[in-house]
Amino acid sequence: MADLAARPRLRDSVIVQADGGTLLFLCLADRTVKKFTCDEFVKDVVGLLDGTRTIDEIGALACGGGRNARARVTEVVEILAGERLLSHSAAPEREFRLLGEARAEFYDRQLRLLQDFCDEGLSPETSGAGLQRRLGNSTAVVCGIGGLGGWVALALATAGVGRIRVCDFDRVEASNLTRQVLFRTADLGSSKVAAAAVRLREANPFIEVEAVDRRISGAGDLADVVAGADIVVNAADLPTPNDMAAWVSEACWPDIPHIMGTGYAYHIGVLGTSIIPGRTACWSCVRAETFADHGRDGMETVVGRREKAGAMGALSGLVGNIVAWEAIRILTGLEPALGDRWSEVDFWPLEIRSRAVPQRPDCPTCGR
Ligand SMILES: [Zn+2]
Repeated sequence: MADLAARPRLRDSVIVQADGGTLLFLCLADRTVKKFTCDEFVKDVVGLLDGTRTIDEIGALACGGGRNARARVTEVVEILAGERLLSHSAAPEREFRLLGEARAEFYDRQLRLLQDFCDEGLSPETSGAGLQRRLGNSTAVVCGIGGLGGWVALALATAGVGRIRVCDFDRVEASNLTRQVLFRTADLGSSKVAAAAVRLREANPFIEVEAVDRRISGAGDLADVVAGADIVVNAADLPTPNDMAAWVSEACWPDIPHIMGTGYAYHIGVLGTSIIPGRTACWSCVRAETFADHGRDGMETVVGRREKAGAMGALSGLVGNIVAWEAIRILTGLEPALGDRWSEVDFWPLEIRSRAVPQRPDCPTCGR
């Protein structure tokens, strides 16, 4: 509280309007509105909360100061802090510049968002620059760099995840270009990871990109791919989605958070689930919950999944970017949204549906 109040500053996402004895705080960050009765002194104080003045200076300026000004300003500041209307940083731009001028300029708008997460109390960090540093010190692995992984990698790159490792074995084909955002017509026939690495480095010069051109046929093939990762996103579906998921999860367990089960086909985008060892249900719990639906796990396949599912870039990008947002939450230490649940976007009504995925108490992998 003392730090917050030294040179108090309203959050940048807050607009204040007055009507007579009423003050309205419009919080653009989450669309909440807070209403207070006030007098001219309080209105003056609120107008002076820009992080450049001490409590005493504000007291001297508001309505010309007067008796008990300091105590009255302190009371206003404490109420506003309690309502999370004040920033945790008196001079955020000065803290942003500690990242270096070029980075501060590149990440400017993102830093303002990250600062607001801090101001909202969503992170133990008090500065958006602190969250940006966490991203910069992180390593993310994206397995499969196609219609989903490409968007994920691009969003993580532009967000400033310091090291991104992409893994795929495929070559760029014409039918990829409607939705695989990292590739251009000039890349046809090229290695996907090589083309992706070029594009990601162009997108953000402040990060490192590593390309692993490899066909995966077991968890052992992934040991060096996931080594040192802070998050692994599985967006690969070859040889089969289930095999790939099992291998990625095995390679990551029990040290590395991984986002699993993502995909898209026709009207449905699968956001999948976040698996954070020690905190959430593991992949075998997820499989036990979702793969036996309709008792179909024991059934014989008469007509199987077709090789080519209907898809569009606008929709695969929607899924990929939500998955990237989840990865960013995990990397910055913000609360993940997709743990212990299985979530899908229905593109037609444009709704996200989730079902709970409980951790099985007797699970041989994650059970306590
Ligand atoms: Zn489990």
